[in-house]
Amino acid sequence: MHELALADAVMKAALRAAEDAGMDRVERLVVKVGELQQIEKDLFEFSLTSVLSSQDQRLADASFQVTEERVRFGCNACGREYGRNDISLDDSDQGEAIHFIPELSHAFARCPDCGSPDFEILAGRGITLERIEGTGDG
Ligand SMILES: [Zn+2]
Repeated sequence: MHELALADAVMKAALRAAEDAGMDRVERLVVKVGELQQIEKDLFEFSLTSVLSSQDQRLADASFQVTEERVRFGCNACGREYGRNDISLDDSDQGEAIHFIPELSHAFARCPDCGSPDFEILAGRGITLERIEGTGDG
């Protein structure tokens, strides 16, 4: 299960971060998920909860928050940065496709200024452990 594997990776990163910060107990985690990351958010949250509560005592009482990071494209031709809503589309069918299948943004993205399809993804991909709060002796 994709989501469980990701939740497990988040947990390992959280424990590493807690160790670095000298935390005995983690109280709060904020996880940022890029909108191009193909996950079931509910399933991911559930996996996170079950993984967190069962696998390590330091994380047993942690609350967590999953936030979504918007995708940002950077045009390689003119340097313009743009979001998914700035993409100019030829017809509404493509808009629907992007809405339901976010990774298709790759196929349809065109710079709104110069029209170039040559871009890189600056944000909105992957999963980041954005914030960790807790207590400990240091
Ligand atoms: Zn451009």
